[in-house]
Amino acid sequence: MAIILDGKKLAQKIKDNLKAQTIRLTEKGKTPGLAVIIVGNNSASRIYVNSKKRACAEIGIYSEEYALPEDTSEKELLELIEKLNKNSDIDGILVQLPLPGHIDEKAVINAISPGKDVDAFHPVNVGKIMIGDYDFLPCTPAGVIELINESGIDLEGKECVVIGRSNIVGKPMSMLLLHKNATVTICHSKTVNLAETVRRADVVVAAVGRAQLINGDMIKEGAVVIDVGMNRLEDNTLAGDVHFESCAKKAYAITPVPGGVGPMTIAMLMKNTVKSASLACSRGGVE
Ligand code: NAP
Repeated sequence: MAIILDGKKLAQKIKDNLKAQTIRLTEKGKTPGLAVIIVGNNSASRIYVNSKKRACAEIGIYSEEYALPEDTSEKELLELIEKLNKNSDIDGILVQLPLPGHIDEKAVINAISPGKDVDAFHPVNVGKIMIGDYDFLPCTPAGVIELINESGIDLEGKECVVIGRSNIVGKPMSMLLLHKNATVTICHSKTVNLAETVRRADVVVAAVGRAQLINGDMIKEGAVVIDVGMNRLEDNTLAGDVHFESCAKKAYAITPVPGGVGPMTIAMLMKNTVKSASLACSRGGVE
């Protein structure tokens, strides 16, 4: 049976560390601050926002929530972001996605000051990640790297297969694995022989959004299997993109859903917020 990579436990360790850093920053007069904006009534988004607020409270990060109605105009949202960009109490701005259809997500992401873009979605931050010279790492991929590190696996020279090529998970994930000197293959919906490609992998990262798409027959003996997927089933239970039982029989290490990548994403968001505050503190000459 595979080693279970416990994201909840590792996230707690990271948050405890951040708590200590936050105390030190607060003593220097710079309490980290995160503004979270949610537009509309998406119930999954509400759950994520609540988790992020809880994590802030636990660490001692000051947080502001802006819960805006579904019919908020793009202009109103951009004006709020502009105000938060200028607010020195706020070190991180997070706009919970998805946004209602009438709002252009790209325009909203581009409006966030790159220095406060703690999700690392802004093109400036994406470009910095590409060249390996960044302040903020994208939260979910960064959380995955931390989990792999915790498994004791050295990524150098490993065959890594990422399934999914979204801008928020698949693409940045592949880039972070490449920075670790892995050999990376990216699969997507047009990949011709997914099973065969995944079977080559020493490390599999599934970020697809299809419940249990990856099963044990596709896993090489001794592989590390990371499940980013969070799929709500008809009975309201949560399932990953990986069929846990069959994959765990073959894998060396595997993440569960829930309790794997999800808590790590939030811990990495907190890490970026504390880092942003720390950078602001240095710029202000306090540190
Ligand atoms: P997304 O934007 O919908 O992207 C899904 C990707 O999967 C696309 O690149 C798509 O290919 C590919 N794909 C779809 N069906 C496929 C198939 N049958 N075979 C191979 N590839 C296929 O999703 P996302 O935002 O990256 O999220 C992926 C999953 O991760 C979702 O379940 C989401 O809820 C979860 N998630 C979890 C966290 C966390 O903290 N745990 C954070 C973010 C996302 P094409 O590009 O060709 O369409």
